[in-house]
Amino acid sequence: MEEMVRSIGFVCPECGAPEQRQLSVFAFSGGMTEIHCRRCGKSKTKIIRNGDRVLITTPCIICNERHTVMCSAHDFLYEPILAFSCVNSGLDCCYVGREDIVKMGLRKLIDILNAAGDEAEQKANRTVLKETILFEAMLQISDRMDRNKVRCECGAEAWDVDVRGGNIDIICGSCRGRLRLTAVTMEDLEEISAMEELCIPKGEG
Ligand SMILES: [Zn+2]
Ligand SMILES: [Zn+2]
Ligand SMILES: [Zn+2]
Repeated sequence: MEEMVRSIGFVCPECGAPEQRQLSVFAFSGGMTEIHCRRCGKSKTKIIRNGDRVLITTPCIICNERHTVMCSAHDFLYEPILAFSCVNSGLDCCYVGREDIVKMGLRKLIDILNAAGDEAEQKANRTVLKETILFEAMLQISDRMDRNKVRCECGAEAWDVDVRGGNIDIICGSCRGRLRLTAVTMEDLEEISAMEELCIPKGEG
């Protein structure tokens, strides 16, 4: 007769490695079982059998806390898959069940984590790029001011600069006329760089 085994899987929050272990159901006949991350050894899932109940304490790759869940011993031993989720994010953080389904669950979880990581990185890159474009545009504008290449139709030569979001407004200090320059994309920046002179249209009042 084939020995009955259960598979337990989680992703180590310390080193990011998926950990999956097959244990004979006899391992859960009483007391405590610990499953350490084999790569770094720094995190572990603890399983405590207490009569008809099983208590599982697992590290969480998503929020970095430890979560404790409870299920019936019957479910723990016989359900094809139990997915325990992070209370903070709702995503799975620990699987118990058949080897192949636990493996699939872990793979899916790793995919989600990778996608989230890429998105955070792209977002950070976009923010840096935006700030760089705005800064470069401001340099261009201040260069025009230094060279007296900013003027208003009304003839005044004093202005305020107002930066909001990706927009740079140059406002005439006399007639309050306003020239809006947008500095969000590389094309915007090229356009501003190509402007030899900045001319503010005369204000209404
Ligand atoms: Zn680890
Ligand atoms: Zn969590
Ligand atoms: Zn003016």
